[in-house]
Amino acid sequence: MCQKLKEGVVLRSYNLKLCYDCFVKFFLKRTKETIEKFKMFSEKDKVLVAISGGKDSMALAKALKMLNFNIVLCHINVGVEKENYSFLSQQKVEKFAKEENLDLKVLSFKKEIGATVEEASRVLKKEICAVCGMIKRYLLNREAKDFDVVVTGHNLTDEAGTLLSSLIFWKEEYLKKQFPILESEGSLKRKAKPFCLISEKETQIFCNILKLDYQKTPCPLRGGSYVFFKKIVNQIENEMPSALLNFYKTFLKRKTKWGWKRSEISLRKCSRCGYQTVTDICNFCRLKEKINKLKDENISSEN
Ligand SMILES: [Zn+2]
Ligand SMILES: [Zn+2]
Repeated sequence: MCQKLKEGVVLRSYNLKLCYDCFVKFFLKRTKETIEKFKMFSEKDKVLVAISGGKDSMALAKALKMLNFNIVLCHINVGVEKENYSFLSQQKVEKFAKEENLDLKVLSFKKEIGATVEEASRVLKKEICAVCGMIKRYLLNREAKDFDVVVTGHNLTDEAGTLLSSLIFWKEEYLKKQFPILESEGSLKRKAKPFCLISEKETQIFCNILKLDYQKTPCPLRGGSYVFFKKIVNQIENEMPSALLNFYKTFLKRKTKWGWKRSEISLRKCSRCGYQTVTDICNFCRLKEKINKLKDENISSEN
């Protein structure tokens, strides 16, 4: 396949050996093919890239830029103080945006909700990762108002992990919802995952070859079932290369055949902000109200 092979990478799931140059070409080609296959967006579209500073979102921004897409970056500082995590992540993103000459929007939980993710999780009495995801989705959607699509760095390993977890617990609603592209619906912006057929190992190799300076420490607060399923899925990939790709691709094929779609839940507009919700007030506005109420109580108890 490749003529210059003195050093390079071995991709066991494709039975391929590639030199570094060819790997980058291969990686970009796969990204482009995925974008086209699922009709995610075109070169005319304005694309908002959610960038955490980790390897996947960094690789995504770099790949989309190399493929000449019209992108703007959006970083959300979640306010994790442990290990200086959020501060360092934002620093990496800012450095990257400057070097690549890309526009960057920076938002923060502190400014938006007046609390860190840990405080928000205590207020709502819910798992940190779930609360963090809810707030990030809300803010991204709001920032994407003038864009055609929002893209995230979710890779094959993430998608296979989510799928496996949904199957183990038979979360039917999640199974119906999971797809590389989610069409826009009311105030919800179109969302796409261009790396859904690319594994975590591959995004890492891409970053290393191109010497991208990404946040290498995983979030110190992540935990629960997410970490567990990620471990299982990585083990499957090590033992049986290509099994994950088959698992996920077959799911997508079956899903299309079965005609599985999101259930028609009647969505209404949040009476405060207009965001899609199933209740009167959306989760984000409810969280903000609870935080403000707590602050008022604290102030009056201090007096
Ligand atoms: Zn080569
Ligand atoms: Zn709202």
